[in-house]
Amino acid sequence: MTAYDPDNIFAKILRGEIPNHTVYEDEGTLAFLDIMPIVDGHTLVIPKKPARNIFDVEPEDLATLVKAAQKVSLAACKAFGADGHTLRLHSEASGGQEVPHIHFHLLPMKTGVPVRP
Ligand code: ADP
Repeated sequence: MTAYDPDNIFAKILRGEIPNHTVYEDEGTLAFLDIMPIVDGHTLVIPKKPARNIFDVEPEDLATLVKAAQKVSLAACKAFGADGHTLRLHSEASGGQEVPHIHFHLLPMKTGVPVRP
């Protein structure tokens, strides 16, 4: 397990030090638009509690995060006219994780519309 870095970008967003476009918030979760979207409606869903990735998040906090991701996915698909969606979770640099605060990428998908590189 690697120590949590409290200076990561999402920790700063949670502290209100960096602006974000919030689309959903509850007691334990924040969801906001990705600054470099690869599909329309690309949203990041993160827990408010510090956790680096799936290796060190508490199981009950992961359950809370997944429930919020389900709620936001339904709303995002409706808002963006998507007929499906992808939820991505990257862990550590080798798994594609750049920001070391656990987050789901929520990608509303439309038939025939590819993900941007
Ligand atoms: P990757 O960039 O390889 O997808 P991550 O899974 O760690 O790595 O994703 C980090 C995501 O955070 C990226 O999609 C990036 O565009 C997004 N991002 C970085 N800074 C901000 C920010 N200030 N506001 C919103 N999204 C951000």
